Amino acid sequence: MSINGLTVDGVILEPESAAIITTYKCTARCKDCCFDCSPKEKEMLTIDEIKKFIDEIAPLKSIKSVVWTGGECSILGKKLEEGIAYAKSKGKISRIVSNGSWSSGVEKDKIYLNELKSKGLAEINLSTGDNHQQFIPIEKVLTIAQAAVSVGLRVLISVEKTKFSKFSIENLKEHPIYKKIKRDDKDTSLSLLSAAWVSFNSGSNYEYDEEAFIEKREGCDSLYNTIAINPEKKLLACCGITIRYIPEMEIGILGEKPIIDMYNVQKSDFMKQWIFTEGPINILRQVVEWEDTIEIPKFVHPCQACAYIYQTPEIIEVIEKNYHTIIERITVKFYQKISFKGTFEKKLKAKAIQK
Ligand code: SF4
Ligand code: SF4
Repeated sequence: MSINGLTVDGVILEPESAAIITTYKCTARCKDCCFDCSPKEKEMLTIDEIKKFIDEIAPLKSIKSVVWTGGECSILGKKLEEGIAYAKSKGKISRIVSNGSWSSGVEKDKIYLNELKSKGLAEINLSTGDNHQQFIPIEKVLTIAQAAVSVGLRVLISVEKTKFSKFSIENLKEHPIYKKIKRDDKDTSLSLLSAAWVSFNSGSNYEYDEEAFIEKREGCDSLYNTIAINPEKKLLACCGITIRYIPEMEIGILGEKPIIDMYNVQKSDFMKQWIFTEGPINILRQVVEWEDTIEIPKFVHPCQACAYIYQTPEIIEVIEKNYHTIIERITVKFYQKISFKGTFEKKLKAKAIQK
């Protein structure tokens, strides 16, 4: 086995990102939160568990950054600072994902963010929208964005979107704090993203504009690219947002075996190879080709489609009956994609060295 990557029959698997879902505790209680987070949740990784995870992923040079998320990762307080500094000591920069509830005014936020930046923070992602704003006013989110931009951090604000969202990116752009940030943000470090707000447990039936539905999607690039850990110390095969609905995305428990070995086992998981190469929407199309009595709903998020596949016994049954007809094609495609990715990255690295 290579220490800088994961050997798959001669091909190197090189995950690019590590995600730490620090806690399911949150200062908000958004309806349809993918992890059902709330102030009542207690599960939280200890600093020793966080450090063990970082120690184990540290030899993977392809992983440049660690994403700190939750729940609300700022609830960790000093442990978050210590974790970010520890990741930096192992050569990894950090990005945090937050709901912005901790804002204490622009000057205090600058001091806090400067401190995190000195420890290794490079980027902050903030979430807002109708559900978030039931708990956290937009002013807090924008104040943190303002402070972050002024201390030189990259910022992404993600805004929930459904057909009937009351608050949209357009509303955000009209806000005086946003306008001020844009006037002062010479480096354009602030970007916005409109993200479909979905329910994974079908508790809510949101409506969406027609163009929001995904008709065709390529393979999922989170698989074989991300190693994540959740507050229950479970290691996850992808970004982890569906772990409560797709137990198959769990690859082991921290400490059970070396993470690298647990990650490497996935190379022979046909379903993951298929999701990685062709994506859940194309898989559902193939299922309908095999069995045209199956009706498939529309999806606005690939992970919704992925959870639907794993949660629907009739679909699994059709796949189990027919997958032998495509296994060879998918396996070839899988190795081609892994090997192309490795070659492409090497070329990029070589280019960067030449500059
Ligand atoms: S802020 Fe994020 S983590 Fe917290 S409840 Fe809302 S969606 Fe969930
Ligand atoms: S599409 Fe499936 S494998 Fe990919 S990130 Fe979503 S849940 Fe994970």
